[in-house]
Amino acid sequence: MFEVPTSLSPSRVEKFTSCPLAFRFASIEKLPERPSIHTTRGSLVHRALELAFARPPAERTPDAFRASLAVARHEFRSLPDLVDLDLDDEQLAALDEECRQLVERYLLMEDPTRVHPIGLELRLSADVGSLALRGIIDRLDLRDDGELVVVDYKTGRAPSVQWEQKSLAGVHFYSFLCEQVLGRRPAAIRLMYLSSGETIEATPSAQSVRFITTRTAAVWQAVERACETGDFRPRPSALCASCSFQPWCPSFGGDPDRAAVEAPALLAPSLVATAAS
Ligand code: SF4
Repeated sequence: MFEVPTSLSPSRVEKFTSCPLAFRFASIEKLPERPSIHTTRGSLVHRALELAFARPPAERTPDAFRASLAVARHEFRSLPDLVDLDLDDEQLAALDEECRQLVERYLLMEDPTRVHPIGLELRLSADVGSLALRGIIDRLDLRDDGELVVVDYKTGRAPSVQWEQKSLAGVHFYSFLCEQVLGRRPAAIRLMYLSSGETIEATPSAQSVRFITTRTAAVWQAVERACETGDFRPRPSALCASCSFQPWCPSFGGDPDRAAVEAPALLAPSLVATAAS
C-alpha cells in the first residue's frame, strides 16, 4: 500500500501510462532521476530564453540572448543537473556549443521584440477530481487580437507526423490549466522545435480540453488503485534505455524494494554530498 500523491504534473501522469513502476519510483517514492545531457541542455536553453524575455521588448537583441545564455550557464555551474553529468572540458564545450546553436536557431524563428509575453515559466494548478494537476508553461503570449497563445520550447527533435498529436497532447494539458486558472481557453498552442526551426501549432477546443480531463481522471483512478494494491508493474519499452531506475527493475533482474536505499547515492551523488555536509 502506497500513499496516493495529491498533486502531479501532466508529464508525471503520462509516466504512469508509459510504465507504472517508473511512476512509482519517481512520483510515489520520489527518488531522484539521473540527469541526462538532453534534459540539462533543454533546461539551460529554457532558462536563457526566460531571462532574455524578462527584458523589455526593445532590449531583446541577439546579444541580449547570448548574454542570457551566459548567465544561465553560470547559474547551472553548481547544480546537480550539470555537476552529476560529470562532463570533461571537451564535453562541456560541446554542450555549450549545442546550447548556443539552439538559441541562435530560436532567433531565426521569430522576432522576440514583437512578442508580448504575459507569463514566463508560469506555474498553474487546477483540480481534476481529488488531484491537483500542476504545470509550468514556458511562455504565455498575448496576441495583438487579445487572444492567448501557449508557447512550449522543445530542444529535442521534431516528431514525425504520427507522433505529432501525441506531442501536442502535453500542451493541451496546459491549455486546460489556462482555462481553469485564467478563465480563458488559449487560441493556440505552439511547439517551437529549436533544433530544426520547425513550429507546430494547434487550436485547442472544448472537445480537446474535455478529453484531457476525462483521460486524466481515468489515469488517476488507475493510480489510486495501484497505490491501494501496491501493483506497479514494469512495462518494458524503448524508454527503458534511458530509465534511471533500471538497476531496480525486475525486468532487468533488479529488486524494486532496494531502490529507496540505493538510488539517491547512485543517481544524484551531489545532492547526497550536499545533504551530508
Ligand atoms: S527499466 Fe523500463 S520497465 Fe523498468 S522501470 Fe524503467 S521504464 Fe519501467
